[in-house]
Amino acid sequence: KDSSKTETTTETKDEAKEEAKEEAPQTGSGKYIGISMPTQSSERWIKDGATMKEILEARGYTVDLQYAEDDIPTQKSQIENMITKGAEVLVVAPIDGSTLSDTLDAAASQGVKIISYDRLLVNTDAVSYYATFDNRRVGQLQAESLVDGLKKLKGEGPYNIEVFAGSPDDTNSFYFFQGAMDILQPLIDDGTVVIPSNQTTQEEVGTLRWDGAVAQSRMDALLAANYTDGKTLHGVLSPYDGISRGILSALTAFGLTGDDLPVVTGQDAEAASIKLIVTGDQYSTILKDTRKLAEVAANMVDAVLSGKEPEINDTETYNNNVKVVPSYLLEPFIVTKDNYQELVIDSGYLKPEDIQ
Ligand code: BGC
Repeated sequence: KDSSKTETTTETKDEAKEEAKEEAPQTGSGKYIGISMPTQSSERWIKDGATMKEILEARGYTVDLQYAEDDIPTQKSQIENMITKGAEVLVVAPIDGSTLSDTLDAAASQGVKIISYDRLLVNTDAVSYYATFDNRRVGQLQAESLVDGLKKLKGEGPYNIEVFAGSPDDTNSFYFFQGAMDILQPLIDDGTVVIPSNQTTQEEVGTLRWDGAVAQSRMDALLAANYTDGKTLHGVLSPYDGISRGILSALTAFGLTGDDLPVVTGQDAEAASIKLIVTGDQYSTILKDTRKLAEVAANMVDAVLSGKEPEINDTETYNNNVKVVPSYLLEPFIVTKDNYQELVIDSGYLKPEDIQ
């Protein structure tokens, strides 16, 4: 019997999965769930999808997980396919929140339940619940960390900064940017922060498809137009790690390295950006624990199928143009060189070898 102890410590991943299955409430009984994710080009969505699949399968559901590689028609046809195959619930993180409404309306009229995942599905009343993070808070934290970094690394103000926003078809971009401006606008008004390019509207600063290459070109253009006369760029508000890395490439190509690099923010605690935080190239990122989000969404799946109310903590923020979608908002955290070990590694969000 003693050997059973050794077995537990050396148990394989499959055995661990079996155990999780034994412990999980068997709410699924083979019901077919479709999970539609936007892209595998960013780590977080891979983790979101995999965690949700694991949790739902352990509860006895049959899970169809699809990635649309940032192509809107692909996402639409993947979802239509799930509906044809008899999905009872769809969990959807849209590429463009407004392009799926006809498809989702038709599904809902056949009794399919729809959960909006991380990004809001707009222009449809088919969506039952929304599992996400406190998105406005994400933006506030990004700007707060930018201001902290400026004070810590760039001496006394006024500080020259440039601002970037996410994809204009993702409602999150709007909340992130609004949150950031909650913090930055008063500092712009009192002259502590200056935006030399004068580009401050979301139309001017948005980054279609959250594409790092698009951000890199815009940063190249900003540097050429505003910073060739010796003016110092002290900080860049960036909404997502992939965009931050594009911005950093442009900055480096412009000749800025080491202490001359501006304070650059981010989001998602991607391994490639944690490495840049450790070397001091990127200042901060935002950790949103997607394992927790997957769990919240899985509980929503159970709830809609059993006709019960899932846990909700916000019923006023997320108006999707047709209704205010009842939501569960999780808390985001600022990550810097000072706390990445605890928040990102010790918590198991990333493995030490991911950032080697
Ligand atoms: C998510 C962010 C992510 C971005 C790009 C947003 O909708 O909330 O976590 O960085 O999309 O994938």
